[in-house]
Amino acid sequence: MIRIEGLRVRYGEGDFQLRIPELIVERGTTTAFIGPSGSGKTTLLNLIAGIIRPETGRVETRNVEVSALSDPERRRFRVTTVGLVFQEFELLEYLSVLDNILLPYRIHAALDLDASVRERARALAERVGISDKLDRPPRRLSQGERQRVAVCRAVLTDPPLLLTDEPTGNLDPVNRERVLDILFDYVRESGTTLVSVTHDHEILARFSRVVDFRDFHSFGEAGVS
Ligand code: ADP
Ligand code: MG
Repeated sequence: MIRIEGLRVRYGEGDFQLRIPELIVERGTTTAFIGPSGSGKTTLLNLIAGIIRPETGRVETRNVEVSALSDPERRRFRVTTVGLVFQEFELLEYLSVLDNILLPYRIHAALDLDASVRERARALAERVGISDKLDRPPRRLSQGERQRVAVCRAVLTDPPLLLTDEPTGNLDPVNRERVLDILFDYVRESGTTLVSVTHDHEILARFSRVVDFRDFHSFGEAGVS
């Protein structure tokens, strides 16, 4: 599903450097990215999703070399292939909860917003327990509810790849388990590949694989000339 080779990323002239000689994520697996703050976990999600491009190396997602696509091609690839749950949820306050869930269909012509999509959005909201809050703005939701909105939005397109950035970072234990159950149930039923950044070592047992970013950094520093 994901194949990374000879990757090097920096931001401008800053000190940060991420180097990954090789990383392969198999289709249908669940992978946790762990490592210290600032070690490049969010950066790698952004590369896999085609939001940013590497300085050198290849990022191949679902047999598409995302690092070689033009900007419009990458936007199209992202919206049709990848479901993203961002660290800060990125809900829009001027839209209702329902319209936040429908957002991918509102912003890209490659997706067609029809009655069946609306029906699916409502069914997802029902499933995660927010169906009575669809008309509200996101600010009138709890953190746990906001996170569930973000998850509904990410899976609405039925993406083959789901990328989540600290999906339980701001949640209490009850909501944490609830959001994880929703994510992992979805992944199991749909065969989606899941890659999730997490700081939460208590949830690692749920994943089939753990990738520790400290490994990339010791390699990176040794390789800097
Ligand atoms: P993590 O998610 O592991 O905490 P990030 O991938 O967010 O780490 O960031 C890695 C490093 O890159 C950090 O030092 C951060 O400050 C820097 N960084 C992240 N995004 C940018 C950006 N857009 N411009 C410049 N530096 C950035
Ligand atoms: Mg991060």
